[in-house]
Amino acid sequence: MSVLIFAELADGSIRKNSQEAIFYGAKVASQTGGSATVLAIGEASEAELAKAGNFGATQVLYVKKEENIMAYAKILTEVVKSTGSTVVVAARSALSDAVLARAAGALKAGFAGNVTALPDTSAGFTVTRSIFSGKAFAQTTITSDIRLLAIKKNVIDVTAGSDTAPVETLSIDTSAEDGSAKILSVEKATGAVSLPEADIVVSGGRGMKGPEHWQPLLDLAEALGAATACSKPVSDLDWRPHHEHVGQTGVKVAPNLYIACGISGAIQHLAGVNSSKVIVVINKDPEAPFFKAADYGIVGDVFEVLPKLTAAVKAL
Ligand SMILES: Cc1cc2nc3c(=O)[nH]c(=O)nc-3n(C[C@H](O)[C@H](O)[C@H](O)COP(=O)(O)OP(=O)(O)OC[C@H]3O[C@@H](n4cnc5c(N)ncnc54)[C@H](O)[C@@H]3O)c2cc1C
Repeated sequence: MSVLIFAELADGSIRKNSQEAIFYGAKVASQTGGSATVLAIGEASEAELAKAGNFGATQVLYVKKEENIMAYAKILTEVVKSTGSTVVVAARSALSDAVLARAAGALKAGFAGNVTALPDTSAGFTVTRSIFSGKAFAQTTITSDIRLLAIKKNVIDVTAGSDTAPVETLSIDTSAEDGSAKILSVEKATGAVSLPEADIVVSGGRGMKGPEHWQPLLDLAEALGAATACSKPVSDLDWRPHHEHVGQTGVKVAPNLYIACGISGAIQHLAGVNSSKVIVVINKDPEAPFFKAADYGIVGDVFEVLPKLTAAVKAL
């Protein structure tokens, strides 16, 4: 199958989540005896774009920065048609949700979001999807000729090689597209590490007592090179900025390590963090629901545990 991967660019390079999408797309291509082409829209040098080859892509098609979301969908639709692609893969994100849904409509193609594994192509095209905020899985068979997939983070272990891919710059006329949904500016989160792509996240809840008590958590995050996050009430109370709020109604994260400090573990919080590989919970209440979802639990006061953890990390 001819696979097209929609890769997002940030700060002049391919986003980490998109690297995983490329690796996934290349696996689908090799599983079905096809090619893996990347479509990247934004700003990046040819050398950076060529690195898509590290993850298995055989070609990169590049379209320079575009502000109009409708134009993204138009470009994707045109490239799917011109390359004869039958599978489109993207990392799940706010942008890919908007773009893939519109392209699926234009192409009359089936769209599966939250895909958690490689497709089963032994009889048709069936994907496993995470549903009900991660509480269940659905097997979805896509019967259209073109299938669009948005994959969840951490669904495949990425191993990068050293191959590079040739880059071709395309020019696609999008002037007729409706400009009602435009990216006017991008405001970067202030944290040192980007939350959606972080390998380690240290997160605080109401158990942190107030914004003036956040320093022990920030110290641990700094020692670990981690991003910081929080529960919804914490951002509602303005203890922490809204972009740190994780959960059903916030950012969905899937780091290798999620450390929850003084968070009860409500289902709406778990919905945004339960794809993390290892979850560590620090809570003074041994009955806190979060312990049921934890790989490691520390029953104790965050203000006693956090400084000890930070000291131990620094000692390592
Ligand atoms: C429609 C809807 C959507 C929602 N979406 C989200 C969402 O996206 N994200 C989200 O987080 N929530 C969401 N919520 C809210 C959610 O239901 C919980 O209310 C919220 O997650 C609780 O936040 P918390 O754990 O920080 O606070 P609490 O429930 O108050 O828990 C605080 C925890 O800290 C512990 N603690 C207290 N002091 C200490 C100490 N000194 N040391 C160690 N532990 C201590 C306590 O034992 C307790 O377990 C949503 C709710 C609704 C209804």
